[in-house]
Amino acid sequence: MIIGVPKEIARGERRVALVPDSVKQLVAIGPEVVVQSGAGVSAGFEDEAYAEAGARVVDGAAEALGADLVLKVQMPGESEGGHEVDQLREGAALISFLKPLDQTEITQRLADRGITAFSVELMPRITRAQSMDALSSQSTIAGYKAVLMGADTLPRIFPMLVTAAGTLQPARVLVVGVGVAGLQALGTAKRLGAVTYGYDTRAVVREQVESLGARFVELDLDVGDSEDSGGYAKAQTEEFYQRQRAELGKHVAASDLVITTALVPGQTAPLLIEADAVRNMRPGSVIVDLAAEKGGNCELTQADQNVVDSGVTIIGHTNLPSEVPAHASQMYGKNLVTFLDHLLEEGALSLDFSDEITAGSLVTHGGKLVNERLGGSMPQAETAPEASGAEGEEG
Ligand code: NAD
Repeated sequence: MIIGVPKEIARGERRVALVPDSVKQLVAIGPEVVVQSGAGVSAGFEDEAYAEAGARVVDGAAEALGADLVLKVQMPGESEGGHEVDQLREGAALISFLKPLDQTEITQRLADRGITAFSVELMPRITRAQSMDALSSQSTIAGYKAVLMGADTLPRIFPMLVTAAGTLQPARVLVVGVGVAGLQALGTAKRLGAVTYGYDTRAVVREQVESLGARFVELDLDVGDSEDSGGYAKAQTEEFYQRQRAELGKHVAASDLVITTALVPGQTAPLLIEADAVRNMRPGSVIVDLAAEKGGNCELTQADQNVVDSGVTIIGHTNLPSEVPAHASQMYGKNLVTFLDHLLEEGALSLDFSDEITAGSLVTHGGKLVNERLGGSMPQAETAPEASGAEGEEG
């Protein structure tokens, strides 16, 4: 089996699917790895390092995209050589972020081309799959970077300082939506010396917030049964969100930096901070909206722009992991190698459709959408795609 790693083509994307260390681990379990020259450069990994790790470094994208199994960070897109999906070999396999719940076009295109495609976003949130969970690894990086970006934009410092030149009050940082990114943001802000606050609709979060030395913000709202079986937040009613916005407003106004991460899978991000609440913040305050790609938690957020309104800066960066490309790629590569270790048997792709990890993340196979979350159904007993050079196994 040949595994291909093309250079990412999405604008601003600096990550790479495998770093040299992950290549070394993969080669050790069997496959040959082909890396496009320059694929790791913007993450700090030179071609020589990949070659030393055992990869074959090739010029141009064609050979890497034409491999039996292609590893990418961003979903396939239009490149100089045509659309990346069209450059995949029919019947080959692909593992990547694919946004299948938000954008069906690429998924359908992959199905039409007979690609066996796995979407890393759909990896089940179960203990067994924790080390394969790219949403978590990349959210960890995003939460960290959100604090640094906020701190850098804020006209104040984070820690309390008592100096001969006077006393500086510590920054107040509020994190709204304390999942993986939010927890990392709280920890990072605390380490920098801020006074930290966290809020989430899921009741279990209180203890996690407090364990990081932050205060849990209590709102006068009945959240009811707020968590689904996958650990994600459930959608609330519009009436609930209205009350939430009203309650949250005073906490937002009292904060120097607000980091929002609130998401509900498959939906646009809930609107939690209205323009009026932003205008009640002190000038110079900052909001970093990690939900910007899904419409944002703040009414004033614009994707990939910094908006300044009434002296408050709202940062809507949609790809913070790419701003820390070495460690983000290292973690993503580790996620992929662990996933491949699970999928490969004697160096070939082996699909067990009854396995929770395979069935959870597989989106297209045999020319069809197969994932239940996308309205498809898993094949009952079938061989794996022959073009992957794999001996298939059924589930
Ligand atoms: P996410 O990115 O879907 O959402 C971010 C946060 O926003 C969540 O904590 C969610 O509760 C919160 N949120 C949604 N609507 C909100 C609202 N109206 N107001 C305030 N907050 C709101 O979530 P995530 O970070 O990907 O993870 C969610 C949870 O999944 C984790 O905290 C964890 O419990 C679980 N998880 C489990 C595993 C595992 O077991 N392998 C791995 C990762 C995450």
